[in-house]
Amino acid sequence: MKEQIISAGKVSGVVALLALASCTSVQTPQTQDTQAATEQQQQAETNVLLQEWSGPYQGVPAFDKMNLADLKPAMEKAMAINLAEIEAIANNPQPATFENTIEEMERAGEELNRVFTYYGIWGSNMSTPEFREIQKEMAPKISEFSSKISQNEKLFQRIKTVYENSQKNPLPADQQRVVDLIYKNFAMEGADLSPEKKKRYAEINKELSSLYTAFGNNILADEEKYVVYFTKDQLSGLPESFVKAAAKAAADRGKPGQYAVTNTRSSMDQFLTYSDERGLREQVWKNYYSRGDNNDANDNKQNIVNILKLRKERVGLMGYDNYAEWRLQDRMAKTPEAAMELMMAVWPAATARAREEVADMQKLANATSKTKITIEPWDYRYYAEKVRKDKYDLDSDEVKQYLELGNLTQAMFFTAGELFNFDFKPVPEGSVPVFHEDVKVWEVTDKTSGEHIGLWYLDPFARQGKRSGAWATTYRAHTTFDGKKNVLSSNNSNFVKPAPGEPVLVSWDDATTFFHEFGHALHFLASNVKYPTLNSGVRDYTEFQSQLLERWLSTDKVINQFLKHYKTGEPMPKELVAKIEKAATFNQGFETTEFLASALMDMHFHLADPNNMDPDKFEKETLAKLGMPKEIVMRHRSPHFGHVFSGEGYATAYYGYMWADVLTSDASEAFTEAPGGFYDKDVAAKLVKYLFAPRNSMDPAEAYRMFRGRDAKIDALMRDRGFPVPNNQGKK
Ligand SMILES: [Zn+2]
Repeated sequence: MKEQIISAGKVSGVVALLALASCTSVQTPQTQDTQAATEQQQQAETNVLLQEWSGPYQGVPAFDKMNLADLKPAMEKAMAINLAEIEAIANNPQPATFENTIEEMERAGEELNRVFTYYGIWGSNMSTPEFREIQKEMAPKISEFSSKISQNEKLFQRIKTVYENSQKNPLPADQQRVVDLIYKNFAMEGADLSPEKKKRYAEINKELSSLYTAFGNNILADEEKYVVYFTKDQLSGLPESFVKAAAKAAADRGKPGQYAVTNTRSSMDQFLTYSDERGLREQVWKNYYSRGDNNDANDNKQNIVNILKLRKERVGLMGYDNYAEWRLQDRMAKTPEAAMELMMAVWPAATARAREEVADMQKLANATSKTKITIEPWDYRYYAEKVRKDKYDLDSDEVKQYLELGNLTQAMFFTAGELFNFDFKPVPEGSVPVFHEDVKVWEVTDKTSGEHIGLWYLDPFARQGKRSGAWATTYRAHTTFDGKKNVLSSNNSNFVKPAPGEPVLVSWDDATTFFHEFGHALHFLASNVKYPTLNSGVRDYTEFQSQLLERWLSTDKVINQFLKHYKTGEPMPKELVAKIEKAATFNQGFETTEFLASALMDMHFHLADPNNMDPDKFEKETLAKLGMPKEIVMRHRSPHFGHVFSGEGYATAYYGYMWADVLTSDASEAFTEAPGGFYDKDVAAKLVKYLFAPRNSMDPAEAYRMFRGRDAKIDALMRDRGFPVPNNQGKK
């Protein structure tokens, strides 16, 4: 939830299909047209972004030589080279084999991978208006490039031949998995359809892409259009930082001297949490949850219906009954029923807890409010905050004094040493090029054998042109099919850069996220797969490993050695740790209910018949049937559920966050049950062997069973959220 993962040197945020065609290799790709290959070679040599990586550690990106003027020609060249490689594979006169088709595809796209590494840095770490112009121009070209590969009929026929042969004569396990994944990916994108159906398929995709853009733009328009202004006598309860931002927001909109609550989540959330002005809270709440639902030019209801119809028609061309069934086939859940079963197992406990929370709040409101009120949705955050203070009394400033960035980094290295047997050492100053002076690089080796594993780049601080949040990526992923490649992994955060000599003190949430992203880096570094495709992620599974790593932050060994007061050096007191842990279950009724309501609606929309559907009515009726508490609204109401309707990334996939949570809680109990706790050597060895190292080279459900000796159960998640554990052992 915290970041976008750009996995294994493949820019999945740009086009998923690129993953099929791209990989990293030092071998010269075989092309039939040697003349063209020579010319390409010459051009490649003059453009830094296309050049092979040189220097130590098997070659590293030339981040110190990046020049934006090189980007467009490099991308165009790299795509042309990749397409030539694909054509050569597709037109090979020899009968299709794993080696001459699949392995060649895995090998192709070396230049493009290199260019995309730089593209990713400009996009996320070093953006400028000039870069965004190039990005705008390149986006449709990248999409066209990817279609040329996914719709290459001759290529698909060769993949299909290899796949069908493998059904008669199975290949070695890892090769079989690569073939299965590639074949399925192409087939899921309509590669196996008749020419007429393919034509309709392409038309539908084109219509959908316009609808997705319209849906997203309508949300943006309503976020800009509806702003609540207020005056100096209405500031009661608001924190000073919010008041300052609100004054600036009003001034920016031509109303100096007033204050403005803009129609975005962070603004709404803070205002509803702190403002004593109930009437204003109601207005802010209504604006936010009506985005895309105002029966005007920016209304999204008809878009929802059109999107659902087209999605159903498109998967129908491939013989699927509904979109959810098509989407989930290669996810860990595999079927919509399995995802629904999990959600409905947690739902009753979540809504029951929400009712208890409302009762607590009503009591407090009765005792403190001058007029008699009944808790409404716009009161939830406000009274929840008052109950939180009352019950937990956690001072976030006090916690920060024990969370210093340098110590936290050492804590992560310690954890990696205990679990993965990794050692982290800073590389010699200046030996590895970086794109900004703040970026630091460490070499990762095996603690026992000293074997080199890779590098870890850390870009810790916020700056202009860097996107917000935290994320992990790789510049090069581990593979062995063309000689063993080391891993170039990176973590990126937005801590506020301190004055020279001052410590960086972070919140508990930010420290948790820091561990989370490091979990992604360890997942990359621990990879032992042979082929690039096997490094790819499974959406309801890849967040699990990183979420699990968060748990080591609050282990005794980490607290006692690394969570030390920045002035006194004293470790964080036990009582403070206990307070943090207790506060973690607070307000889980609200949080779980608002999340599940959205995840359940996502699934119900895609399982229903979209003909004659009225989305508002459908939403209202479905939630009523589920027994949605009237004091809570969906985290994302349908007319602004961008995860699901402004693209396909999370369509029938929003449940995935909870799926990963179940695995996280259950796997964490494997450690707490073991004699050595979180540092138990046997459980750690299994963790690395089955949950990290295989990446996507084995079925995730099978990998989990090897680790745990059984399927994951929801019990641990229920305990973590402070919910009662159901008797009928809900399983997934
Ligand atoms: Zn993550």
